[in-house]
Amino acid sequence: MEFNPADNIQDLQYFGEFGGVNPSISDSSTYTFLAAKSMMDTFEGNLEGCYLYSRHSSPSNLYLGQALAAMEGTEAANVSASGMGAISSVLMQLCSQGDHIVSSRTIYGGTYAFLKNFTPKFGIDTSFVDITDLDKVKASINEHTKILYCESVSNPLLEIADIKALSKIAKEHKLALVVDNTFSPLQISPAVLGADVVIHSLTKFINGTSDTVGGVICGSNDFIDSLRNVNDGASMLLGPVMDSLRSASVLKNLRTLHIRMKKHSENALYLAQKFEEDGYKVMYPGLKSHPQHNLYESLYNEEYGFGGLLTLDAGSLEKADELMELMQERNLGYLAVSLGFYKTLFNAPGTATSSEIPLDEQKEMGLTDGLIRFSIGLDNHIERTYKDMKYCMESLGILTLAKI
Ligand code: PLP
Repeated sequence: MEFNPADNIQDLQYFGEFGGVNPSISDSSTYTFLAAKSMMDTFEGNLEGCYLYSRHSSPSNLYLGQALAAMEGTEAANVSASGMGAISSVLMQLCSQGDHIVSSRTIYGGTYAFLKNFTPKFGIDTSFVDITDLDKVKASINEHTKILYCESVSNPLLEIADIKALSKIAKEHKLALVVDNTFSPLQISPAVLGADVVIHSLTKFINGTSDTVGGVICGSNDFIDSLRNVNDGASMLLGPVMDSLRSASVLKNLRTLHIRMKKHSENALYLAQKFEEDGYKVMYPGLKSHPQHNLYESLYNEEYGFGGLLTLDAGSLEKADELMELMQERNLGYLAVSLGFYKTLFNAPGTATSSEIPLDEQKEMGLTDGLIRFSIGLDNHIERTYKDMKYCMESLGILTLAKI
């Protein structure tokens, strides 16, 4: 049977202790043992089904982890307090002093800053490469390289990583392929395509209500166990634990992810096609003009579409700012970082979510001043939204490609 991430989630059922249709929330940081020996065995990781302390694991976090592992097709998963908590734990777990990482250069600004400014303090260096150029990826690998890191759909340029090809390279060089799949939950299943570890910022589409930050690491049983190890596990020792109340609410929101993703994708495709027809400089993986449109089609789970993110170049930062302010005034969306909300969110990443990347590097990767990143919302009448957005662009004199 074909892999279907949403069906996998739907097939999981958990009941509360009194027969509730949702599992009970574990409202404890610590757990009692009837026998002292069981506590010792649990500490050593030898006792299944027992809980010790909620930084290590809790029933609520395990439910959410199981559902996300099912979604990504991995053996296990560990939820964390934020996406950065997941990313930093994975990188610190897999690397030691003297190791090297090959990373896509177009990644979330926080991840870039972590690799560029933080991990070198521990003797871990990173080469940033154009992930769409497989020869450059291969050429950047050296004898110390441990990780190949990328985002399936990159933030903010929406470049697509050829996960199958990257997995082949990773296997040849005995590297771990770590993929951040935050932009494309359900659409792309990196582990099924060959990734070793899949990460999400749950803050975005998966939770979908912009009321919390959260993250998850999906991988093999051995890897997830290693992260939780009381002696040397990064998740256990760095401590980015999600609170049980939150994981219970994220699990409930996860139940509707498939419906939301289809609508985000449908709305984004509609707007991208219309803006392109009008001659605006728009980038969306669902457009044939996207340089990796065919690659995306060879990787995606078709029913969930091309995702909720698109970019539009307003020509200059000044124009981008004016447009975002006007759209917000007309209630078309909010000028905000983050993504995956019911309402459209937009920002100019060069000065916001990617501002950690130096200007010359932004320029080199094609991140222009006037680029606006849109996370398209769940608008009921997207035709109405389109007309109103077009009115905003025309009234501000945003140029179409023909006039640039
Ligand atoms: N990965 C991507 C692609 C992101 O866009 C973000 C945040 O914007 C993160 C990771 C970090 O996640 P969090 O803010 O939940 O720590």
